[in-house]
Amino acid sequence: MFETQYNDEMVAEVRRLEAEQAGRLLRVGFVGLGIMGSAMAANLLKAGHRLLVWNRAAEKAEQLVAAGAVRAASPREVAAQCEIVITMMADPTAVTAVRDGEDGILAGLGQGTGYLDMSTVDVATTQTTRALVQARGGSFLEAPVAGSRKPAEDATLTIMAAGDAALYEKALPLLQAMGKKVLFLGEAGNAARMKLANNLVMGGMLTAFCEGMALVAATGLDPAQFLEVLDAGAMSNPMFRMKGPVVARNDTFPVAFPLKHMQKDLRLALRLAEEAGQPLFTTATVNELFKKALAEGSGDDDFAAVSRVVRG
Ligand code: NAP
Repeated sequence: MFETQYNDEMVAEVRRLEAEQAGRLLRVGFVGLGIMGSAMAANLLKAGHRLLVWNRAAEKAEQLVAAGAVRAASPREVAAQCEIVITMMADPTAVTAVRDGEDGILAGLGQGTGYLDMSTVDVATTQTTRALVQARGGSFLEAPVAGSRKPAEDATLTIMAAGDAALYEKALPLLQAMGKKVLFLGEAGNAARMKLANNLVMGGMLTAFCEGMALVAATGLDPAQFLEVLDAGAMSNPMFRMKGPVVARNDTFPVAFPLKHMQKDLRLALRLAEEAGQPLFTTATVNELFKKALAEGSGDDDFAAVSRVVRG
């Protein structure tokens, strides 16, 4: 009796060979190699896809190039050479910056090329991108993600896709290489809406958690025991477990999800709610806390740095 040991690399290689044989490996472009984009692009490389990359700060592409990606001179070149272009940008302004202009993605987009925006943006931005892409004969899918730096590295993101159904089918192997749960939500705009609803819950939960921790500190209780109590009940979740020790210390907040991006999501959620005629009482207050944290210089820290404002 003997046992065969499979390590991660062997499993990845078998998957890559299977995909290659099935003709499922694609020429993919990746624009926006920040915290999330660099980890997601690395997983596409691991899955065997041919990858062309571009990032405004060129040094962020170095690790991917060392792992086998090819560096493009511009977003336009990425689009011109790939079947599917993925973007993972900070916000609507950043999406526009790589999409438009003479070196932008649209300028290089050919007939039938897929444009897959995974950034968290508002419905108007996503629908404008779709219209511009369709006008050039391309197809468009939005696919924002839930999950932070670690799930991006581990390819365990939740991916909310919406838009062109045929592009969704074609891109599915890519989405599955980056995430563990992939949903198709219908027409473009629905994924942006879903993602903003998801993130307002996350912002509110973390702020309430920071307030609980502040009360624990102010009344001389043990933060470790507070975490144990939360973890034993209905409020047990990975975010409290992961951020707990950092929020308890309340000094430095190593970044996984930048606070400036959470404030952007809260702002966009409130705007969406206003359009829908739906009041968001708690989110409006949480947004004010995040605005204060941003004004005090915590924008590039993790969003758990809202704790500083809570503690006063
Ligand atoms: P990040 O590390 O700040 O990366 C942002 C990316 O946008 C970088 O590639 C940056 O380029 C680029 N960028 C910003 N402004 C630009 C401009 N004007 N022109 C060209 N490029 C520009 O952010 P991230 O954490 O990876 O997040 C990316 C997106 O995913 C955001 O929409 C965020 O809300 C969402 N998201 C993040 C997380 C998370 O936990 N981090 C989780 C889920 C969703 P440079 O490198 O040159 O600055």
